[in-house]
Amino acid sequence: MIHPTPRLRFAPSPTGPLHLGGARTAMYNWALARSLGGAFVLRIEDTDRARSTDESLQIILAGLAWLGIDWDEGPEFTAGGRSFGGGDFGPYFQMQRLDRYAALVEQLLASGHAYKCYCTPEELAELRAEQKAAKSSFIGYDGRHRDLTAEQRAEKEAQGIQPNIRFRMPDDEVVRVHDLIRGDVEVNTKQLDDWVMVRPGGVPLYNFACVVDDIDMKITHVVRGEEHFLNGVKQRLLFEALGHECPQYAHIPLILNPKGGKLSKRDPGVKSTLEYRDLGYPAAAVFNYIALLGWGFSADRDVFTRDEMVAAFQIGSVGKAGAKFDVDKLHWMCGEYIRTWSLDDFLTASRGHVEPLLADGAWDANAGFLRNALALFQERVQLLSELPDKLRWLFEDPALDAAAQKNLGKHADAPQWLAAYADLLEGMDLPPSFGGDRAAFDTAVRLPSPEDDAPAAAGALTPNQLGDATRALIAELGIKFGQFVHPVRAALTGTNKGPGFFDCVWLLGKDAAVRRLRAHGRA
Ligand code: GLU
Repeated sequence: MIHPTPRLRFAPSPTGPLHLGGARTAMYNWALARSLGGAFVLRIEDTDRARSTDESLQIILAGLAWLGIDWDEGPEFTAGGRSFGGGDFGPYFQMQRLDRYAALVEQLLASGHAYKCYCTPEELAELRAEQKAAKSSFIGYDGRHRDLTAEQRAEKEAQGIQPNIRFRMPDDEVVRVHDLIRGDVEVNTKQLDDWVMVRPGGVPLYNFACVVDDIDMKITHVVRGEEHFLNGVKQRLLFEALGHECPQYAHIPLILNPKGGKLSKRDPGVKSTLEYRDLGYPAAAVFNYIALLGWGFSADRDVFTRDEMVAAFQIGSVGKAGAKFDVDKLHWMCGEYIRTWSLDDFLTASRGHVEPLLADGAWDANAGFLRNALALFQERVQLLSELPDKLRWLFEDPALDAAAQKNLGKHADAPQWLAAYADLLEGMDLPPSFGGDRAAFDTAVRLPSPEDDAPAAAGALTPNQLGDATRALIAELGIKFGQFVHPVRAALTGTNKGPGFFDCVWLLGKDAAVRRLRAHGRA
């Protein structure tokens, strides 16, 4: 057999945002398409009229584009100067394909693979109740309208009952399906009832529309969640009834929460794709983390690029067991990516998070200061949304957290050390605090790189020179560096952690440093 061009698809229903599970399904289809040199199709399963919205659709498209999961065919969309979608196998929205479904329903009714069932919802509920009461091993539709005569049908129609169209399943047949992840699985059709293809009114249900579309869009591989495994059996029989071979199936296991239960959007750290974007998670990190939910790049490497994933991806190496969502690992991954950025990229990405702390126009007016400030924190954040809390002490006098209070109170002489340090700083040519004229300092000193420590203006002090003067004072006070630094850092920054001590003092600048030291010091 000549192998057809690989064609894969992601088929979301636009009934909500793009969650982790959907993003992973899309990604595995995309990665397999790219690794096989095939096409990746986006098909919109919008037959649930009550719940489908254009808003959800746009959120899904934007989420995929943000993750870099680009589609060759499907809804047209532009993001970041790139266009997605189009294609010759559409329409790619199911609600635009109703004529096609109607034609195939007629074909299946004529061939006997489908039939009209006039059971009312009440009758079906009654049947179900009876099966339950009898503790039947099979709960479902019992095929009672499979072989109605023309007269019986006419009678039902005369009563005004609109039929469901059902697919006629074989009674007792073992269907062997080959799943690219689970291997060969056998399912007896006795477990599955004659399922509804089309409800009254002509709107098709999922299994039917999905197969028609997979045929028309020439889909060769279907990767989707394991909740669709039995649908795969139903779909395969419909493919055969329509004279087509079914695609290769791969059903990927659930994503689990840390306790091993099904992951829910209420579990900590679980967000939809665009929420991650809006919180400042790097797209490449979220992509990388999602890829790992069920698949591994190599035993000793978790961080990889999209291209590396495509080169290494094999659907058969997706695990059979559910992958656990681990928010700490996701955040660690974000930090790993942030550290790979250039300082300029980090500044650009940080702006939206930091600018709200500042007065209008202050971002541009203090570019050198902010560059130095953010350079200190690029190594110290996992998420950009941490930046406001980490930087606030540079702009306003901080309240002391518990650790800072403890450090301030540890030594009875600490207030004197603070006062002595205020005296020292007051007499030095330390840069002014944020908002003051720091041009001579900030344009020359690039934190955190002491090698570049070369001030442009004569006499302008550097963090290293500040360090020398501070050490001399500590020696004079006859105490250890650690004893001195902890209460001073507490008074200056309001906390006990942060970047290098001299970088912090230098950046905070003279006015604020002296003011805070005096506030907590005693001569
Ligand atoms: N619309 C279905 C879903 O979102 C698609 C399933 C499939 O890929 O066949 O679950």
